Amino acid sequence: MTRTEPLNLLNLAPAEADARLRAFADEVGQPSYRATQVLRRLWTSPVADFAGITDLPAEFRQQLGEHFTLPRLEIVAQQKSRDGTQKFLFRLRDGQTIETVAIPDGNRVTLCISSQAGCALQCAFCATGAMGFQRNLEVFEIAGQVREMRLLEEPVTVTNIVFMGMGEPMMNWDAVDPVLTILNDPMGLGIGARHITISTVGVLPGIVALSRRPEQFRLAISIHAPSDDLRRELMPINVKYPLSEVIAAAKAFDRRVTFEYVMLGGVNDGEVHALQLAALARECRAFVNLIPLHPGGARGFTPTPQQRMVAFARELRAEGLEVAIRKSRGMDIAAACGQLRVERLGRRPPRSPDEHGDIQVA
Ligand code: SF4
Repeated sequence: MTRTEPLNLLNLAPAEADARLRAFADEVGQPSYRATQVLRRLWTSPVADFAGITDLPAEFRQQLGEHFTLPRLEIVAQQKSRDGTQKFLFRLRDGQTIETVAIPDGNRVTLCISSQAGCALQCAFCATGAMGFQRNLEVFEIAGQVREMRLLEEPVTVTNIVFMGMGEPMMNWDAVDPVLTILNDPMGLGIGARHITISTVGVLPGIVALSRRPEQFRLAISIHAPSDDLRRELMPINVKYPLSEVIAAAKAFDRRVTFEYVMLGGVNDGEVHALQLAALARECRAFVNLIPLHPGGARGFTPTPQQRMVAFARELRAEGLEVAIRKSRGMDIAAACGQLRVERLGRRPPRSPDEHGDIQVA
């Protein structure tokens, strides 16, 4: 057998991991059902390492450990809010840290996962944007955030996934694409496609790539400002992908789209903004989620008062829209995106946008 670098099985979609494991089992003289036993322990019922697959012969476990890896994400901070929201800070092998938030709600637990360390897009109200872009996460580092929930001493049963943690998922599509497969595949994490939401600021090639996938993954678009002038001020990406093009892409997406709209006091919460937003949402029959700004999450902005949020929602409903005001969760643990990392590390200077290259869409 030729000896090569151990292969990270958690960077592979389940079908590919299965093929590799079968070939390996054959090579070392084990029956192919042994490969299926290992495959189940990657994601479905994960183990910390091969030694933990105790129903395999000891020799095979050792051989697996010599040829493959199952890298973990190290938890360096964990906080639990009074409302049950849990926040995790993971350290990656190169010292980068990323955040994951588990939000319980009745029978559901939604896991908010990160797709990049930091973010290059510098939305004015965002703690992650303020820390700058560090790097794209690999497949195992994104899907691994869910895997780690199953490996906790008190495992968290995740029912829903939202890509609303650190980073813009469509700027890391090469990794997010196979991650979606791992999340959804019954031999992966087995989470229904309708329970997986990819949130984007409107990176058009990513929306097109997502719409080509046959599964019913959900799309959320962070609108945050209902006119190009205001959106350019708040979200520099609007220069590259203006609102009109984002709306056209949302219309072309053949499934229901959600608009995310963070409420910034005195900035985007006037009656005129409600009317503009209503016109956009009506055009693509979008559901609108109003999000309270996390106090302390963004310098120079204040949250819209609750009363005004309710009135804003009423103004949208009067225009025929379906609207929800998202509950603010984990207020006592800084659960807004990027906040825990910012608290622990301070802010780093952003890298230049050139360093992260252009949009990665297959
Ligand atoms: S809101 Fe999202 S896209 Fe904008 S800077 Fe923050 S992480 Fe990046």
